[in-house]
Amino acid sequence: MMKESMELIDAHFKEEGISRRDAMKLFGASGAAMLMGSAAIPTEAQASSSAKAKIVIVGGGLAGMSTAARFTRNLDNPDITVIEPGETATSYQPGQTLVGAGVWDNSDTEYQTADFIPDDVTVIKEKAVEFDPENNTLTTSGGQKISYDYLVVAAGLKLDFGAIEGLGITETITSRGDDSAVRKIIGQNGTSSIYFANGATDTWTNMQKFVDDAKSGKKVKGVFTHPNTPIKCGGAPKKIMYLTDARLREAGDAARANADLHFYPNGGKMFGVPEYHDAIKAQFEARDMKWSYNHNLIKVDTENKIATFDKHATVKGAWDEDLEEFEMKTTHENVEVPFDFLHITPPMKAAEEIANSPIGSKAGWVPVDKETLQHVKYKNVFSLGDIAGVPMGKTGGSARKQYKVVVDNIITLMEGGDINKNDKYAGYTVCPLITSLGTVMLAEFDWSAKPTPSFPLDPTQERWIWWLLKVYALKPMTQYGMLSGRA
Ligand SMILES: Cc1cc2nc3c(=O)[nH]c(=O)nc-3n(C[C@H](O)[C@H](O)[C@H](O)COP(=O)(O)OP(=O)(O)OC[C@H]3O[C@@H](n4cnc5c(N)ncnc54)[C@H](O)[C@@H]3O)c2cc1C
Repeated sequence: MMKESMELIDAHFKEEGISRRDAMKLFGASGAAMLMGSAAIPTEAQASSSAKAKIVIVGGGLAGMSTAARFTRNLDNPDITVIEPGETATSYQPGQTLVGAGVWDNSDTEYQTADFIPDDVTVIKEKAVEFDPENNTLTTSGGQKISYDYLVVAAGLKLDFGAIEGLGITETITSRGDDSAVRKIIGQNGTSSIYFANGATDTWTNMQKFVDDAKSGKKVKGVFTHPNTPIKCGGAPKKIMYLTDARLREAGDAARANADLHFYPNGGKMFGVPEYHDAIKAQFEARDMKWSYNHNLIKVDTENKIATFDKHATVKGAWDEDLEEFEMKTTHENVEVPFDFLHITPPMKAAEEIANSPIGSKAGWVPVDKETLQHVKYKNVFSLGDIAGVPMGKTGGSARKQYKVVVDNIITLMEGGDINKNDKYAGYTVCPLITSLGTVMLAEFDWSAKPTPSFPLDPTQERWIWWLLKVYALKPMTQYGMLSGRA
């Protein structure tokens, strides 16, 4: 099946007149090799360095383990330690959206971290809990004091369901790992979230019941949220809504007509890039999917199935005589919305032990220069992935660009060079916005807030070829390209 799909993608490229060289640009060397059905996965040409230093990486998820792998490729004598407590940390989180809609099973997304530990890398299965960057040391949950020459912080982010009143959740969780307390609440009574692995499985169970109810003639309401914090994969709250719409349509026109689907984002637009915003609005209208901007989910009554939102607006206040202008003030109103199916995208934040440490920041995220990814205060500390304090950088697609920058910069420092001469991270990210079962809009963009398509195709169009890419190609590209440090 996978080979057939790869051949289809290849044929489609030919039809569109896209050369394999262009395809390489987006997919990277290994991805293109996969795509073109080649058994050999080429490695980007890199000169190996003989410089030596002790490098410690906190977090062995997608960003951390890819960074570790690349160091082992680019250093003759790597001395790399990864601190990661999770057994399944390198799992494929982007697949959770497909699990939530019954396209994949959880087993399609779950990898054992042990299978992705590069040779020559030591893994300590604990958490880093204290940081002393003045003395280049950290302490683990097991009490080990670890010293380093260079520290890479790639600890991802935490899901903060507890910030929503009424759920009775007191702890933050990661997308993979122990979610037993949260799963007792999120997953029950139509309340769902694809943001953690078991939550994605339960989302599919709840979605099926929602569709069945609509099919049997009941009028049902699906509510989809987007919080007031930065989140990973900004497209996912909408993707799961599009997929709910698709599953309803699959069940028949009557089922779709019986369901009201409503998106309540905290923000005031669909997407930061105007071209994608316009395209999404048109797609919502075409599917009769409704939305109300400036609604932040603050409370859920799971028993009575009522979601409460803080509806906020910035309005003109009184005339200020001294400043000679109107004051602007924010108004708040609580809005109660009944639901049958509620998809929660929870507030997200940096892990407490890092946010509150000297390497954290008031906002929580690790403060780094957005182009070099070097800590603003500690020059031997770097950060990437979801925990890095860079704008719009919380996707696997961004981490794929960032990890090369981090590795190059640290090796340059080890060699006594100037990192300002190296390639910079330019804010690239990619969001394969699933718009139905079988179509995806491949939204690529960077800090210019303009579409940055890798192909000469209209990036605002929903295409089947990008569905094939999402469902069949991106996972192996991540496994064999990024997690092995090759591309
Ligand atoms: C539903 C969903 C859909 C998504 N869709 C897409 C998509 O379509 N495209 C895309 O590019 N991206 C997508 N993403 C985002 C992508 O998965 C993340 O951006 C990516 O995993 C970030 O990698 P990371 O290494 O920073 O974090 P993670 O992969 O989450 O890894 C962080 C690791 O740090 C560990 N850790 C935490 N605290 C500590 C500590 N104190 N000490 C040691 N270790 C610690 C954790 O155990 C964890 O394993 C999606 C994510 C979700 C949840």
